[in-house]
Amino acid sequence: MKKILLIQTGGTIAMSAKGEGVELDPEAWSDLLIKQIPELEELAEITTYPLFFEDSSDLNAEHWVNLAQCIDVNYEKYDGFVILHGTDTMAYTASALSYSLQNLAKPVIFTGSQVPMSSVRSDARRNLINSIEMATTELQEVGICFNDHVYRGNRATKLSIGDFDAFGSPNLDPIAEIGLDIELHVPPKKLIPAFENNAAFSNEIFVLTVHPSLSMNILDCLDLTKLKAIIVRTFGSGNFPMKGEYNMIPFFEKCRDHGVIVAIVSQADYDAVNLTKYPAGRAALNVGAVSGGDMTMEAALTKLMFLLARSDSKEYIETQFQIPMAGELTVDK
Ligand code: ASP
Repeated sequence: MKKILLIQTGGTIAMSAKGEGVELDPEAWSDLLIKQIPELEELAEITTYPLFFEDSSDLNAEHWVNLAQCIDVNYEKYDGFVILHGTDTMAYTASALSYSLQNLAKPVIFTGSQVPMSSVRSDARRNLINSIEMATTELQEVGICFNDHVYRGNRATKLSIGDFDAFGSPNLDPIAEIGLDIELHVPPKKLIPAFENNAAFSNEIFVLTVHPSLSMNILDCLDLTKLKAIIVRTFGSGNFPMKGEYNMIPFFEKCRDHGVIVAIVSQADYDAVNLTKYPAGRAALNVGAVSGGDMTMEAALTKLMFLLARSDSKEYIETQFQIPMAGELTVDK
């Protein structure tokens, strides 16, 4: 029987009803897991590990590093890993781990639920059973298992607050689907070098959402000496205001002059940024911006945080940012 490490980090799955809302409840949780889903033991030999217990909104890069270390020290002892995690920042943590856990040859499956495990109509039970089963397969990457789909961790994004189908993967089909059987859609990797954990992240980064009437005076207040990169969430294929007082190009020039990387992603979930299509994109390219292609914002942000922690070379980071590291980006064939 396969050995699975089930790592608890918190989230709604571990909460209980409290008045009109829900709240983290460590005791209720550990009781529930053992008593309410005895079938789990038919699927695998499961060891639970309470790493932390947080609403995922309170997780940050330090937690990502701890989580990666937990997998690293247990890597040889287990066949697969399931991480219980809040849905709000699950795509960020899954992306961060996809870059950190290099040459991964085992499944690392994130899951959680929209409704606490303790509620009768919870999706927790199904997501947990599916995830444990996924963790016994030959999958060799970081995935998010939710509502019978498994998405590549760095391609997924939270799309719904209220639906059981909380996640989507707009630019890549699910890597596995769970029906009567589990269907894996990714082939096994060929020769895999030794597993390495390289988790380290910089937070000298800022995400800027472009919107109509965005004031350049406010952007001028940003202290660029504290930043190494800005992710700009543009309209459509890489568009932003170019006229009058709202023209963003002088701000991009200022970033360039301060050695701050400007990385362009889109507010649209589907398809890729194309900086050669419209005048704004071409102007951004002229002042040194780089394209995030079809990366999700979560994948682009955590990738830059990871690269910034590994190198001081702006050129190196800009080049690596535009090359797939863990299947997070589609490149033209
Ligand atoms: N606020 C919760 C969290 O992300 C939401 C969830 O788990 O669905 O921890």
